[in-house]
Amino acid sequence: MIKLSGIYKKFQQHEVLKGIDLEVKKGDVLTIIGPSGSGKTTFLRCINFLEKPDEGTIEIGSTLKVNAIKPSKKDILALRQKTAMVFQNYNLFQNKTVLENIMEGLTVVQKKSKQEAREVAERLLHKIGLEEKRDAYPSSLSGGQQQRVGIARALALNPEVILFDEPTSALDPEMVGEVLQLMKQIAAEGITMIVVTHEIDFAHEVSNRVVFMDGGHIVEEGTPEEVIVHPQKERTQQFLKRLR
Ligand code: ADP
Repeated sequence: MIKLSGIYKKFQQHEVLKGIDLEVKKGDVLTIIGPSGSGKTTFLRCINFLEKPDEGTIEIGSTLKVNAIKPSKKDILALRQKTAMVFQNYNLFQNKTVLENIMEGLTVVQKKSKQEAREVAERLLHKIGLEEKRDAYPSSLSGGQQQRVGIARALALNPEVILFDEPTSALDPEMVGEVLQLMKQIAAEGITMIVVTHEIDFAHEVSNRVVFMDGGHIVEEGTPEEVIVHPQKERTQQFLKRLR
């Protein structure tokens, strides 16, 4: 369903992604783990052109194939419409209420009526258990609540895949659980997810595929059992050992 081929990315002279190939199937929950600076976030951001890859192709479904070297504006728009991103720092609109934050993409990007957008947003507020915060502004919410709104905003767009960029790493430890719980619930609904995370237990328990990245390469990929419990490559073994 998603096929990334030959993705390269440099920042000035610094080569951060050195040829990444990855396929993701519908309903996959794929976690990307690896040391800081290995290129995980850059790779995730390349999928929807928040970072423009220097080389490579990105395919979503059978109809969209984008070549990084010469993408058209239409291609990039189509990529963004098929993907949604959940950010480390939530990236909510501070001057909009919780409900308005969830409605925004539906009215502005998808041109849905306010009435329709409100119905979707209210259903999602119920799902994330924050109906009572409907008219609150993000600054009055805890980090965990803000991230749940960030997830609801992504779900509202009904994308082909949700890209999660270290969704719990800015949270105080006591709030990590509520966000992981919501992600687990979404995963169980069959939504395709790609998650950059340091939460190895989550990767083990919830994802069906794990990718270990180091130095701009995919070093190892497979089931959680294969990569986390019985890693074959020394670099993966060392990384996991340091976490224990
Ligand atoms: P990870 O998510 O694995 O921690 P990143 O993808 O965030 O790794 O970063 C990989 C490398 O790319 C790091 O050395 C980082 O400093 C560098 N990098 C990331 N974004 C930029 C940028 N916008 N400009 C310059 N260097 C960047």
